[in-house]
Amino acid sequence: MWPGVLGIHITTVRIGALMSRAEMADLLLNQCARLGIRISWNTHIVDFDEDVSAGKGVAVGADGRRYEADVVVAADGLGSRSLRLTIGENVRAVSTGYVIYRGSVSTKDLENATVLKEYLQQNPRPEIRLSTGHNIHIVLTMYQRGVAFAITLPDNQRGTAMESWSSTVPVEQLLQSIPDGDKLDPLVLDLLNHLPERGVIEWKLCMRNPQAKWTSQGGHVVQVGDSAHSFIPTSGSGATMALEDSLSLAECLRLGGKNDIPSGAKVHELLRMQRVTLLQRLGIVVRSLLHSEDLESIKRAPKNMTQGKWLWSHRADAYATANYQKAKEHLEGKSTFENTNLPPGHVPEQWTLEGEVEREKQGRTVDLRANGDWSIN
Ligand SMILES: Cc1cc2nc3c(=O)[nH]c(=O)nc-3n(C[C@H](O)[C@H](O)[C@H](O)COP(=O)(O)OP(=O)(O)OC[C@H]3O[C@@H](n4cnc5c(N)ncnc54)[C@H](O)[C@@H]3O)c2cc1C
Repeated sequence: MWPGVLGIHITTVRIGALMSRAEMADLLLNQCARLGIRISWNTHIVDFDEDVSAGKGVAVGADGRRYEADVVVAADGLGSRSLRLTIGENVRAVSTGYVIYRGSVSTKDLENATVLKEYLQQNPRPEIRLSTGHNIHIVLTMYQRGVAFAITLPDNQRGTAMESWSSTVPVEQLLQSIPDGDKLDPLVLDLLNHLPERGVIEWKLCMRNPQAKWTSQGGHVVQVGDSAHSFIPTSGSGATMALEDSLSLAECLRLGGKNDIPSGAKVHELLRMQRVTLLQRLGIVVRSLLHSEDLESIKRAPKNMTQGKWLWSHRADAYATANYQKAKEHLEGKSTFENTNLPPGHVPEQWTLEGEVEREKQGRTVDLRANGDWSIN
């Protein structure tokens, strides 16, 4: 809420707990250690391969080493080297015309940010604040251990932003590019003024078409997370979908067993594809609402970002357990199968990035929430 732009502050549901990316990575790393899973650091994978007759997937290292397994999970993020084996080509990235500035700080490192500190003392529950205005939106996430921000702006400053977590800009540069930057929400301003060195990551926001396949022909290489499906942050779901993928794939592989890895991988793809593709589109639709010229669209956008029960109450592993057999029979041509991990009553629609871009150009909006039950509870 600051002069010059429209300020909308949403608090939709009570947030139970929040965790930073670093905390999540630490948690996963500890679990690997607990289970005795060996990690080989600094191993750059340059290609993937499979030997169907031997029943093996392969990840090829930059040093030529070949890492072989019954199934290789390509979780190497955007522009995965495994795309050659799944869809046969790279997926073209199309710029949204926007850049997102991100940062996340532990509250231990915000000792001198008095406005923020006082706010956190008086408001102990985690909170997400969204403020939007013409061609800008800001998400501020606060919880007792940390604070994070995401500021989305048009990409007309320098044109050098990349899709990289290590591309940073000085905070002064960010403040200069925000219209009325000195009049921001005081909590955001206080955070920006107390960020550590290299605390602002600059990320070019790109969209990609949904991928038709996530598995190699023989089913011994399978993509999960961003390597299978790219998201833009306005979906609010990229990391969640990556985690759901992992739960689903693990359960499908368990049910398929060592002797039927290809079915495990392909059933997983069938169970996940429609759910994920819908959320990819949601991100694109919300982004265009948030950056519309029309005030009413901007006001509608926060409502569209709230996560319906179909989304937040889903258990991807339990879904795989319940649906594995039916989905497998469908893949074998023995029966029909319909996913139920979508909004109840939802009829899946095909979409392409080109179609979405054209729709936006023509000023047409789409209400995904009119298709099925998206209610929160
Ligand atoms: C600015 C921004 C904001 C976001 N906000 C949200 C949000 O609010 N909520 C949400 O749910 N999601 C959000 N996302 C999406 C989320 O970050 C991604 O969906 C998620 O990180 C995907 O996880 P992943 O493990 O598949 O890929 P990544 O997190 O990209 O991990 C890929 C890993 O593979 C490694 N790697 C890459 N190439 C190679 C190679 N050749 N050899 C070896 N290793 C390799 C990388 O180093 C990295 O560790 C956001 C994304 C962006 C960019």
